[in-house]
Amino acid sequence: MNIFSIFGDPVSHSRSPLMHNCVFKTLSIDACYSRTHLTDSSRLRDTFFQKALSGANVTVPHKEAAYAQCDEVRGIAKTIKAVNTLVLEKGKLIGYNTDADGFMSAIGSFGEIHTALIIGAGGTARALSIALSHGGITPTILNRSRGRLEYFECEGFECFDWEEFSVRPYDLIINTTSAGLSDNELPLPRPILMELLSQTKGAIDVIYGKETPFLREVKVSALPYKDGSDMLLEQGVLANHLFFHGAYPIDQIRSAMKHSFTL
Ligand code: NDP
Repeated sequence: MNIFSIFGDPVSHSRSPLMHNCVFKTLSIDACYSRTHLTDSSRLRDTFFQKALSGANVTVPHKEAAYAQCDEVRGIAKTIKAVNTLVLEKGKLIGYNTDADGFMSAIGSFGEIHTALIIGAGGTARALSIALSHGGITPTILNRSRGRLEYFECEGFECFDWEEFSVRPYDLIINTTSAGLSDNELPLPRPILMELLSQTKGAIDVIYGKETPFLREVKVSALPYKDGSDMLLEQGVLANHLFFHGAYPIDQIRSAMKHSFTL
């Protein structure tokens, strides 16, 4: 039997075990997927091998540590410098980032997008800015403080903090902050948000499973919108496909995993 797990701190809220186990059951794959609560990032690689895992996912706050502990990192994860999917290949730990590609699949339904404003400058913003840029979409980053903007400046992206920002039209507004996750806050001052929403084609919040104050304002503006569920689904589909080295058709994985969202 192949064993998989998700590493995180906290990890009890993660929907990944349900999503992946649903695929194993539907496609009759002899495998199981569990949670691993890991507090010490430096123990990630050792724990992976001690548990004899075939693959894993990595969530907050271990994605950068996972990147550093791989034998090889492939694809867009090399630029993002963060890994959310680990696969064992010939005894070696291979790292990928499926958050980025998962997000790009999720925004396909918004139609033609040329420019996007990313609110927030954390790990998710890094992944999405690189993914957008590789996809031919120009990202601009807006964060409440300057501290985390250096990475984006080095990548050559336009960056602003709240003080220096003046509103322009963007095709898509993306909330990558954790504002609204466990509080009732907007990710930026309301007047700026309202002006942005009056000039955009759509908006997406990467938070899933709840209606954030950001999404409530988007709904009132009658714009096309999404929460983070499609991104969550797509990153999981891509990870599952990698776990078995492409042995199972991606459409079958997607439809089985989608079913887990109805349970
Ligand atoms: P980080 O902690 O790395 O970054 C958080 C960012 O949010 C920072 O830029 C911070 O600004 C900003 N921020 C936090 N609180 C506020 C606030 N009240 N007002 C304005 N800005 C704020 O987080 P991650 O990038 O790792 O994750 C962000 C979110 O993305 C989480 O909610 C997570 O659940 C979600 N996520 C969803 C995924 C999916 O599949 N749908 C996948 C991955 C993540 P500052 O620098 O000023 O502190």
